[in-house]
Amino acid sequence: MEKKKFYITTPIYYPSADFHIGHCYTTIIADAIARYKRLSGYDVFFQTGTDEHGQKIEKKALETGVTPKEYVDPIIENAKDLWKKLGISYDYFIRTTDEDHVKRVQEIFKIMYDKGDIYKGEYKGLYCTPCESFWTESQLDENGACPDCHREVHEVKEEAYFFRLSKYQDKLIEYYDKHPDFIQPISRKNEMLNNFIKPGLEDLCVSRTSFKWGIPVTFDKDHVIYVWIDALTNYITSLGYPDENSELFKKYWPADLHLVGKEIVRFHTIIWPCMLMSLGLELPHQVFGHGWLIINGGKISKSLGNYKDPREYIDSYGVDAVRYFALREVPFGNDGNFSEEALISRTNSDLVNTLGNLVNRTIAMSKKYFDSKVENKHVNESIDDSIITYANMLPNLVETKMNSFKVNEALEDIFELLKRCNKYIDDTTPWLLAKDETKLDRLKTVLYNILESIRISAILLRAFIPTTSDRIFKMLNTKNIEFDTLEFGKLENNITLNEAEILFERIDTK
Ligand SMILES: [Zn+2]
Repeated sequence: MEKKKFYITTPIYYPSADFHIGHCYTTIIADAIARYKRLSGYDVFFQTGTDEHGQKIEKKALETGVTPKEYVDPIIENAKDLWKKLGISYDYFIRTTDEDHVKRVQEIFKIMYDKGDIYKGEYKGLYCTPCESFWTESQLDENGACPDCHREVHEVKEEAYFFRLSKYQDKLIEYYDKHPDFIQPISRKNEMLNNFIKPGLEDLCVSRTSFKWGIPVTFDKDHVIYVWIDALTNYITSLGYPDENSELFKKYWPADLHLVGKEIVRFHTIIWPCMLMSLGLELPHQVFGHGWLIINGGKISKSLGNYKDPREYIDSYGVDAVRYFALREVPFGNDGNFSEEALISRTNSDLVNTLGNLVNRTIAMSKKYFDSKVENKHVNESIDDSIITYANMLPNLVETKMNSFKVNEALEDIFELLKRCNKYIDDTTPWLLAKDETKLDRLKTVLYNILESIRISAILLRAFIPTTSDRIFKMLNTKNIEFDTLEFGKLENNITLNEAEILFERIDTK
C-alpha cells in the first residue's frame, strides 16, 4: 500500500545575522512533527531554508565590504551546522539564491503578469535618502523619522509592479468558510478576517527599483522582485513548480502544514493563498501560527544582545535538554519564556528526576535481583492497571494532541506514564518483595511492567528526544522500537538488560 504523504515546512529564515534560539524553537517543533509523522507511517517531506534577498542584506554586505552572497554564505553554513547539532531531520534546505529557485520565481512572475494579475503602477512610500530605505508609516520611530538612522523621511514615488490581491478577497473569505481548520489556532483566523480582510485588501507591491539585491523581472530589467513572490513561492519551487508534472510536485503539493511564527501568519494566510489562487493551485491544508519564545521576558533581539549562541546550551546541557525544553515549555499557540534558569529547572525536574532516575533505578533493581534478566511471570495485581491501562491508552492520547499541534501536551501525557511508574515503585515496594522467596515471580512481573512502560514511553519520545530514546533502547536491549509495537507486552521476554548509563546529569544551579 502506498504511504500517505505529509509535507511540512518551516518559514525560510532571513540570514541577516546568525540564528538564535527563536529560530531553533520553530525548527525543533517542525522537526518533532515531521519525525512523529514518519514514525506514524507517513511519507514525509520536511523543508526549511533561507530567504536571502532584499535591501537589508544588501546594505549589511556593503557595510562589510563583501557581496550579498558572500555575506550570507557563512551564515547559511552556520545555520546548517546548528540544525545538525539539534538533530533537525529536514529533507530539503532551500536557499532563495539557488539557481533553480531564481529561474522558477521569474517564470511564476511572468505567469501572473500574463494572466493580468500583475500590473505596473506607482509605489508611494516614505523614503530615507541616507539609508536608501522605504518605510511604512507604522515602521517609523516615535518622532515619525527613519527607524534606523532617525533622520527625516520624505514621500517618494517609484514605478513598481503590483499583484491584484484585492481581486481574491471574496474567494479567500469563501475558502476560510469552507475550511474552518485552515488557520490554527482559531483566534488567529478571526484576527485575519476582522483586522485585514474585511476592511478590504489592497493590491500588493511586488517589485522595486530602489535596490538591486533581488531576482530581476525578466521583461523589465530595472525591477527586482520584492520579497513576496520570491519568498513565499519557495514552498512550490522546491518541488519543481511551475513544472506541474514534476514528481515531487505531484506527490507532495499541497503542503499539509506551514508552521510559522505568529508575526507572519498574515503573509501565509492572505498573500500566499491569493497567489496560489492566481496560479490555479490548491491551497495548503493548514497554517499554524505559534507564539514566540521570549528571552527573560523580552523579545529575542540581536541588538539587545540578550541571547547566547544556541550551541552553548547544547554543549552545556545536551541536545535533548534543549529540544525537550523548547517542545515542553511553550503552551499551544502562546508565548513561552526562555531563560537558562527555566531550562535547568525543566531538565532537572523532568529529564533527571522523572525519566532518568526511573530508568536507572529499574535497571539497577533488575541487575541486583535477577542478574539483569527480564521475565514477565504474569503475577498481576489490580494496582498494575494504573500503568498498564494508561500505557495502552497513551498512543491515542499522543496522536490526538499531535494532530492538533499540542506538542507540549503530548509530552505531558508521556511523562504522566513515567510519573505513574515512579509511584508504582513506591506502592509495590520491590525491595520488600525481594526479601520474600514466595514473592519473586510477583517481583519479576513488577519489574517487567515498569520496563515495558519505559519502552513504550521511549518509542513515543523518539519524535521529541530521539538520542535519549536510542540510549534507552540500548539499555533495554530491545528490538521493538517501532510504533507498531506500542502494545503493552511487546517487550521481549527473557532478555538480558545492558548496563545502566546516566541519561541526564543533574545540573547544579550554583
Ligand atoms: Zn535612515
